[in-house]
Amino acid sequence: MSKDQVENINVIDEDAYAEEQYNDLILSCSKHVKVKDIKLIRKAFDLAKESHKGIKRKSGEPYITHPIAVAKIVTSEIGLGATSIACALLHDVVEDTEYTIEDIDHFFGEKIAAIIDGLTKISGVFDKQSSLQAENFRKMLLTLSDDVRVILIKIADRLHNMRTLDSMPANKQLKIAGETIYLYAPLAHRLGLYAIKTELEDLSLKYRHLNVFEEITTKIQINEKKRQQEINRFSLPIIEKLEENNIEFDINGRPKSIFSIWNKMQNKNIPFEEVYDLMAIRIIFKALNRETEKAQCWQIYSLITDTYTPKPDRIRDWISSPKANGYEALHTTVMGPTGKWVEVQIRSERMDTIAERGFAAHWKYKGDKASESELDKWIKKIREMLENPNSDALEFLDEFKMNLFSSEIMVFTPKGDLKTLPKYSTTLDFAYEIHSEIGNKAIGAKVNHKLVALNHILRSGDQVEIITSNKQKIQNEWLHQVRTAKAKSSITDAIKAETKDRIKKGKKLLETKLKELKVPPSSRVFRKIIPEYDVSTKDELYSKIGSGIILLENLKKILKKNTKNKLIRYWGLQISKSSSSGKSKKETNTSAKNKKFNYKNPLIIKEITESDNNNILIAKCCSPIPGDDVIGYKKPKDNNITIHKSKCPTAIRLMSSEGNYIVPAKWTSQKFLSSLAKLSLNGIDRIGIAADITTVISNELSVNIRKIFIETHDGIFEGEIELYVHNVNDLNNLIMNISKLKGVDSVKRKEEIVK
Ligand code: MN
Repeated sequence: MSKDQVENINVIDEDAYAEEQYNDLILSCSKHVKVKDIKLIRKAFDLAKESHKGIKRKSGEPYITHPIAVAKIVTSEIGLGATSIACALLHDVVEDTEYTIEDIDHFFGEKIAAIIDGLTKISGVFDKQSSLQAENFRKMLLTLSDDVRVILIKIADRLHNMRTLDSMPANKQLKIAGETIYLYAPLAHRLGLYAIKTELEDLSLKYRHLNVFEEITTKIQINEKKRQQEINRFSLPIIEKLEENNIEFDINGRPKSIFSIWNKMQNKNIPFEEVYDLMAIRIIFKALNRETEKAQCWQIYSLITDTYTPKPDRIRDWISSPKANGYEALHTTVMGPTGKWVEVQIRSERMDTIAERGFAAHWKYKGDKASESELDKWIKKIREMLENPNSDALEFLDEFKMNLFSSEIMVFTPKGDLKTLPKYSTTLDFAYEIHSEIGNKAIGAKVNHKLVALNHILRSGDQVEIITSNKQKIQNEWLHQVRTAKAKSSITDAIKAETKDRIKKGKKLLETKLKELKVPPSSRVFRKIIPEYDVSTKDELYSKIGSGIILLENLKKILKKNTKNKLIRYWGLQISKSSSSGKSKKETNTSAKNKKFNYKNPLIIKEITESDNNNILIAKCCSPIPGDDVIGYKKPKDNNITIHKSKCPTAIRLMSSEGNYIVPAKWTSQKFLSSLAKLSLNGIDRIGIAADITTVISNELSVNIRKIFIETHDGIFEGEIELYVHNVNDLNNLIMNISKLKGVDSVKRKEEIVK
């Protein structure tokens, strides 16, 4: 047999197979699709079959089985009509085949083309774009789904993909199952599609936590008989009463979904048995007519509470005010015959259909004149709900959060891969989740594009990008900043390895240095240097040398001196007092204090410099230094002149309100005066950053440090430097040079100086 012949046979098989399934579809929608509409469905089917011809799904089935299955879900599980069925059949045509939106428009008209366009676009957003936060997600829905049918068909599409997920490779299964629980199930819930929501949740659990899924399934089977007996015992007296009152009804024990059992076990931290023990009964009655429905709910309620005592405050009246997604029912909790609380849900058949399938099912109850106008009304309602920026939008987001497992969060990599972590996991956990090397080298992270520390607690929906550096060193505190076992053991391992390395390295460094200085290492040497470097053991000394915390530059001095020259420690870095500037401190005491100004100093103010009676004060609000544009403010009957920066808000206020007292001012010379300036800076902590900063400062000849204060927390440092500078140029130079240092995020001049 030739290859062509084989293909022909396949095509014939495919056609026959598709035809069979198509007939099934028509059967399942025959009740609410008019004969003339079947033409449209057939046309859509023919185009879909033609365009996907020869293509196979991962399962090996012809591709066309997928659109047909989606169409079936759309009609029999969501309750949508002919237009939606046609769209479901065509939903992958533009995305996966040669056909364009224009073709669809040409064959099927504008309305269907618009829905297919929406489906194609939404698929791009769902599948290709990286992370979506709930709010973005909502916005996306608003912009892309001019017709809510787009979303409903998309949900049906996902449901079928979840039902056939077995044929996908394991990594794809996880990704798809993760998206499903994160995005699709809450969305289905929001739209009132309870049955689909539950199935999506269960399927997602199955692929994400197979053992949990199987364990709960088995336990349900084991306990089913006992549960049925309890339900019967509870129901019998009620059944009698309802029959006495000629009510047509169905009563059943509401089966809990596997996912909801698991979710409850997690949320409340209780074993399966305790969750399963909570009984819930559903009574679905045939309403006499639409008008008496509500009264009948209350009648049934009253019959039940005649038999069993209701729990106070446990009435949920969703019949007087239905939920936003259309849910209607009356809920109550009563004391059952064995002394256990039992939840009872009372619904009419109509209410039950809405509850299970969503509002879309609603229009069916309009009798023979059924049209999709009712559906259009509902669509409008959903759109309004999504568009409302107030309570509903918040509720929408809340529901998203609520529907996530309480014990887990889902976060995205920059490329959009989904990672599941325990709740309260940090960016560091995330780093280790990706790879232990990423964790070991992590210095910070960007969460939703904002710089955060390594101990930042992540939330579901966050997009996380880890910033790494080869110079990063593991820190002991990291152990308290992670939640996952994976991160903890990686950190412990790395610390052990690193300490060993550091000690080795430090030992070598010290030995080399001592050799250079021709000092043989002896206990006398250690007795001398250990206290000098403020460490308590040799290992600590080696380790700190190895990690660069202790620099050996002054080793020679230490070995020589026998005085107790005290060192000031600044954040692991040692600067001796003399290296800062005691001298200039004295010189500039005048600058900010209310002292007589000596006019021989180069700071002058025009017009009044000749007078000897004026004191010049530097305004504390803006701390001008030579080079800044300044003005003076001379209070009436006061000899003091306060110098402000021209752009200082106080100065601007004074200029407008007390312009008469403003005196022009300028700096005559900038050579000799040192003015106090203050910088604030922050960035990512790394070993040696303080040393680098001080080196930069001391390299600037025209600048003297008065005080340097650097505080590190959670891998980020924040600091303040007070320095004496000659003028603005010097200061700007310095700011520029510090900014260039690796790890420094921002350096700013602080306007206010605290004396
Ligand atoms: Mn599809």
